[in-house]
This record gives sequence, C-alpha cells and structure tokens, in this order.
Amino acid sequence: MEKNQEFDITIEDFGDNGEGIGHIDGMAVFVKDTVPGDEARIKIVKAKKNYAYGRLMKLLSPSSYRVEPICPHARRCGGCTLMHVSYEKQLAWKQDRVRNCLKRIGGVEDIDDKMEPIIGMQPGPDGRTLAVRYRNKAQFPVQRDKDGRIVIGFYAGRTHSVIDTDVCYLQAEVNDEIIRKLRRFMEEYVVEPYNEENHTGLVRHILTRIGKRTGEVMVCLVLNGRELTGKQGKRRNSSQEKYINVEQELVRCLQDIPGIASICLNINEEKTNRILGEQCRTIWGQDYITDYIGDVKYQISPLSFYQVNPKQTEKLYAKALEYADLQGQETVWDLYCGIGTISLFLAQKAGKVMGVEVVPQAIEDARNNARLNGIDNVEFFVGKAEEVLPARYEKTGEYADVIVVDPPRKGCDKAALETIIRMSPKRVVYVSCDPATLARDVKILATGGYEVKRVCPVDQFGNSGHVETVVLLSQRKPDDVIEVEIELGEMDLTSAESKATYAEIKDYVLKEHGLKVSNLYISQVKRKCGIEVGENYNLPKSEDSRQPQCPEEKEKAIKDALDHFGMI
Ligand code: SAH
Repeated sequence: MEKNQEFDITIEDFGDNGEGIGHIDGMAVFVKDTVPGDEARIKIVKAKKNYAYGRLMKLLSPSSYRVEPICPHARRCGGCTLMHVSYEKQLAWKQDRVRNCLKRIGGVEDIDDKMEPIIGMQPGPDGRTLAVRYRNKAQFPVQRDKDGRIVIGFYAGRTHSVIDTDVCYLQAEVNDEIIRKLRRFMEEYVVEPYNEENHTGLVRHILTRIGKRTGEVMVCLVLNGRELTGKQGKRRNSSQEKYINVEQELVRCLQDIPGIASICLNINEEKTNRILGEQCRTIWGQDYITDYIGDVKYQISPLSFYQVNPKQTEKLYAKALEYADLQGQETVWDLYCGIGTISLFLAQKAGKVMGVEVVPQAIEDARNNARLNGIDNVEFFVGKAEEVLPARYEKTGEYADVIVVDPPRKGCDKAALETIIRMSPKRVVYVSCDPATLARDVKILATGGYEVKRVCPVDQFGNSGHVETVVLLSQRKPDDVIEVEIELGEMDLTSAESKATYAEIKDYVLKEHGLKVSNLYISQVKRKCGIEVGENYNLPKSEDSRQPQCPEEKEKAIKDALDHFGMI
C-alpha cells in the first residue's frame, strides 16, 4: 500500500477519536469523516507499517447512521468530529468505548453487568437530539489570514490555521454576535492578531463564558502583551491622529451584549500552545460570572475550570452523588475539585468535604462559593493532589469514607492513587473525561483492593468524540484485599518466625475450621501472641487506623493453627 493509492472499502468500526476504520488486505485504515456501514472510495494519505490513514474521496453508499450536519463547517472544523453521525449511534459508540477500555486496559471482569446505559442529551421539541448550543465556554483563536483579513473561529482539524466562523452551533447564540462585533472592532482600531510563527501581534484568543441559568456573559481577550492597544493606541485614517483608549472602546463595543457581566483581559506572553496565561485584569464589570448547578450557586472566574455542559453536569454530579451513597456523617475528599462544584454538591449530604485543586484562583472561587451558599462543612487546599493528599495523610493520618476524583485527561498521578489506597476509603468515585486513563487508574486501584461496581458514561460533549464517565469502586472484602500485601509481607518474614507460612496457616484454618482468614488477621493474632512479624508489615498506618480487626472466632482458629505448627 502506498501514498495516493485509491481503494474502495467498507467502513466497519469507529476508532478512538471517532474516525471510521476499514481494512485493506487485513490492514487497518483510519478514515476521518466516515461512518461504520459506509462504502467509500478513499485515498491513502499516510501508510505506516501496520496501519494507514486515508482520506474520504467519494461516498459510494452511505451508512444508515449518517445524518446531514447542521453546521456547514463540520467537515473542516476540528471540533465536531461526529456531527455527521446520528446521535443514537454517537451514544452507542461512546458506551462501547468506555466498556472496551475498562475491559481491555482496566482488566475489569464482568464489565457488562457493571455498565449502566449512557446518559445522553435530551431531544429537542421535534424529538431529535441535535446536541447543539450546549456549551458555556468558547475559546476562539484569532489570526490574520494570508489575504490580510482578521479571522476568528476554529482551528481546522489537526492544524493551526483558523477557519473564520460566523456561527458555532455548539455555543450559545450570543457568541455569534460577540465574534462579529470583535472582528469589526479589531479592524477598526487596528488591533493586531497574534502571529504564532514569529511571536508578534497581540490578540491570541477570545474566551467567552456564559452562565446558562443566569444568562451572565464574560468576554476575555487573551493578549500577547499587558494592555489592549490599537496601532500605537491611535486611530487610523483620522487626519489628526488622536489618542484612543482602546480598552474603553472595547467596553463600549461589548456593553450592549445581552447579559454582559464581565469584560477582562488575560495576559499570555509566552511562546506556548497553552491558551491562557496566569494573570487576568478586569476592565469592566465583575471578575467572574455566576451560574447554578442544581441549587448550588457558583462564581466562575476566567482561569477556573467549570464543566462545559451544565445540563449534563447536573446529571453527572447526581450520579457521582448516588455512587458516593452518603448518609450525612461521612468524611469525603474531592480531588481535582476546580471551583468546588462537586465538593459543594456532596457537602449537602456529607459530614465534611475536603477539596484539593492546583489552580489558586479556582480555590479562591471554591471558598467564595462555599460562603455564597452558606455551606460551612467544606475545606479547600491549594496544591497538586499527589502532593497535598500524601502530605496531609502523613501529618494528620487523614481519614476518608469516600474519595472522589475528577482529574484532567491525563488521569491521576500514581502518588495520589497510592495514597488513596493507603487511606483505604470504603468507596472511590472516579469521574473521568478520558476512558483510557480511567481504565489505567482503575487497574492501579484494583491492586490496592478496589473493585469496579458500577460504570455510567454521561454524554457531556455531543457531536465530539469525547465522553465523560463516572465509576464506583468499592473496597473488596478484607479477606480479598490483603492478598496483594501478602506477597510483600512474606518476603519480609524472618526465618525465626517462618515455621509455617501464611499460606500454610490459611490452609490449616480452612481445613480444620472451615474459615477463610486473611494475612492481616494472621499477623494481628501473631502480634497478639508475641510472635514478631516483619517490620512495617500490616502495621496499622495511623492511630485511628480503619483496618478491620480479626473477629473472635477467626482469632481462635488462627491460634489453633499457630499451636498446631508449634509456634506458640
Ligand atoms: N471537579 C471539578 C473540576 C474537574 S477538571 C469540576 O467538576 O468542575 C480537573 C481539575 O483538576 C481542574 O480544575 C485542574 O485545574 C485540576 N488539576 C489538574 N492537575 C491537578 C493536580 N495535579 N492536582 C490537583 N488538581 C489538578
């Protein structure tokens, strides 16, 4: 197979990013814009050793899953990779993707018994779900194109060239007006777009946030500079050049946008693909917008993470709350808590919630949000989850009934997972936006005795290839849990105490007393009988350790075994 060769193929499946997959002589070919069931003429654009990429040249016979995208830019834009696929099929694929990752990467057994059906977005009045206009946040790149025009819109798939966009169907309508106005404004005041090739120019991105329930709007210009200026801050073409305060002109330009509550600038002077810099300056209105999820009110500032699809977020959090199964007294940790959205949601049903988040502004928002809602059983910590949690655990022997994690796509850091295992909460509720890293982390938690009980995908990102998932993991019965620790423990055994191995004691107890006992119980009884056990081996990890204690009946049986082997 070579580049530019054409083939007629049948698309059989979706790839991980929603592209179609067909086969030529047994070799997989990934073809964007195709759907399982399509008969397509494709051209090879890249041939690797074991797979290839193709481009759709002609649709010979369309799949029954195809629909006409509502957006004219759908095929070129890198955003809506699935807009040409019926919503039902999108959901089915996302459900499968989560299932397959957990089964293959996560090694989860009996996965089908654990999967709940994906929670999809609601149909419109016509009964169809178009999954449009749902986002509350947009980040439009700004560029000058090769003809010198200012373009604002979206990156074309896998490139950094911007498609000029008048409308984005994922965003609220008000964005269309904001973009139109800003394009005109930049032309008029000669505000230069950023040029990433030579790191010159000023405006890099336009960030907007909308409070879907409150209608509040934030517009934030991301600048390669500290101030918004036009050409030397002066108006072009005027006979007598006079100083114009471009920032004030911007306020005037945007002030009649319905719902406008905040106009701000973000400073990002780095040569980077990261969209936002660390500093913001409000030039008009509040530093934040407000919105609600359920009954909880949230203040959201430009740098803070906030779920992009609030309607679906409510369902996502309700599922997380259901899985947390709080009765009112529990101590809960919420790692990667952002502005405290999940923390405050859970706090209504828990004894106490502790949130950890790395972005300081988000924690400021989180604390404000707690005050705003009169919620006082929450505490927030700034820092990396993998640093804050172990440090707190070492220092105070911190305890948790339930730990909720909601990490970014790269998943949890190993140190965070290890501390979770050591803290040994009854339940871990994992909220994930990437099924592959979710599955990897689930596997790590399994080595610490956690078993997947329920899985529920939630479609937060209709028409895109992303999917959100909530997973409930519970601690296995103590007898099962200990198996993992044992292997290490047995290596620690000194020859003096290795008269009978843990396995021999277990066998004896099972045969003679019909009881299954764990290594933890054996070590507890040994310690009680004054027999040394390996250092650190199954010692309680803190004073108020929650390790299960050996029941009397099993203690008796173990003592009998120790007696039998001449150890006491
Ligand atoms: N639970 C929140 C936010 C989830 S997004 C919500 O539902 O709104 C993930 C969050 O993790 C972001 O706010 C991000 O800033 C934060 N984050 C990223 N890496 C982190 C780390 N190592 N430790 C703690 N927080 C981190």
